[in-house]
Amino acid sequence: MTNDTNAILIENLIYKWPKQKNNLLEIAKLEIKKGEQIFLVGPSGSGKTTLLNLISGILIPNKGNISIDGILINKLSSYKRDLYRVNHIGFIFQQFNLIPYLSIEENVLLPCLLSNERNSHESNAKEQTKRLLLELDLPQELWSKKVRQLSIGQQQRVAAARALLGKPSIIIADEPTSSLDYDRRISFLQLLLKQCQQQNTTVLFVSHDLTLSNQFTRTINIKDLNLASIENKNA
Ligand code: ADP
Ligand code: MG
Repeated sequence: MTNDTNAILIENLIYKWPKQKNNLLEIAKLEIKKGEQIFLVGPSGSGKTTLLNLISGILIPNKGNISIDGILINKLSSYKRDLYRVNHIGFIFQQFNLIPYLSIEENVLLPCLLSNERNSHESNAKEQTKRLLLELDLPQELWSKKVRQLSIGQQQRVAAARALLGKPSIIIADEPTSSLDYDRRISFLQLLLKQCQQQNTTVLFVSHDLTLSNQFTRTINIKDLNLASIENKNA
């Protein structure tokens, strides 16, 4: 895929949570090209996580379309959306969601066990796991350890390696650095973004720490993107 291809295209999207009076999100258009590294900012409660859940097909918009790599995901069945997500999107969450009873290596290998497509992107998933762990500053003596024996920063880098393995089209990271101090945030980000650039993975990264924005190719403030926030403010 070339760099002109849209990794993400949103058009005329409306999303409202059931039981809420106002639309939470109204987005006329959002285009994110393949390989872009996007920093998504906005105050708490402004709909960042909801938007990520729409993009990953966990939620369905009330109106409008969301395409990922040219596929309209909101038109897919729930089963196909699940499949699409595991094949095309790597996630890094605030709580990392690592499996506690698996080793570090096993945690990183998971996406290639769950997705034939992700597995097909690696000529040797085990070798690539080792390479990523080393690149992310996780030396070999840690690999057979259990998750709880690692520091928070180390766990976060394991989660990043897992998201990267199998070269997903997009990595979605929802406030993964909130529990780190500033220097560690920057070094984590730099390790992550370098790997994403190498494998041409698009990044959508949420944080409320604006000082991180200069690490990215583009910053999007959800308040500028979301027409509903303007209406609600004027109401
Ligand atoms: P952010 O990630 O920017 O902090 P969220 O997307 O989590 O914002 O939340 C945006 C708004 O949607 C908030 O007003 C929140 O109360 C509401 N919201 C979030 N999750 C749910 C849910 N599961 N059910 C109903 N409302 C929700
Ligand atoms: Mg959130």
